[in-house]
Formats: sequence, structure tokens, C-alpha cells
Amino acid sequence: MPVVPRIVACPTCGTQVEWNPENKYRPFCGERCKLIDLGQWASGAYRVPDVAVSDTAELDADAPDGDAQPPGRA
Ligand SMILES: [Zn+2]
Repeated sequence: MPVVPRIVACPTCGTQVEWNPENKYRPFCGERCKLIDLGQWASGAYRVPDVAVSDTAELDADAPDGDAQPPGRA
């Protein structure tokens, strides 16, 4: 019975790669994709950026408005 190579998809680029014990980068297709994946974790790309983004957007929209208001007309 021939050995059927197990195929996995590279988590970074989706390339189908053989799950080969000699492939030290598995399940990635190569060193590059492994480094990219590690880099994404390190830079926080896997976190949900929604909070920070909407927070900044709100502040940006609010701050100039409030500051631009004349101090008062009393
Ligand atoms: Zn890849």
C-alpha cells in the first residue's frame, strides 16, 4: 500500500502543502509564511481592531467640533 501524503493548507497563504515530517515549517508552506504568521501575532493583527478604530474615529469627529465652538455669547 503506497503512502498517501497528507495535504494541508498553509494557514498564511492557503497553498496546499504536503504534511511532511521533513518540512520543519509545517503546516506552513515555507519559512516565509511561518514568519508572516508569527509577525501577525506579534503585531497584534489577530486582535479585533474594532474598538480602537471606532474609538479614534469618534474622538476625531467630536474633538474639533467641541473645540471650535466659541466659548460663549453671554
Ligand atoms: Zn504559505
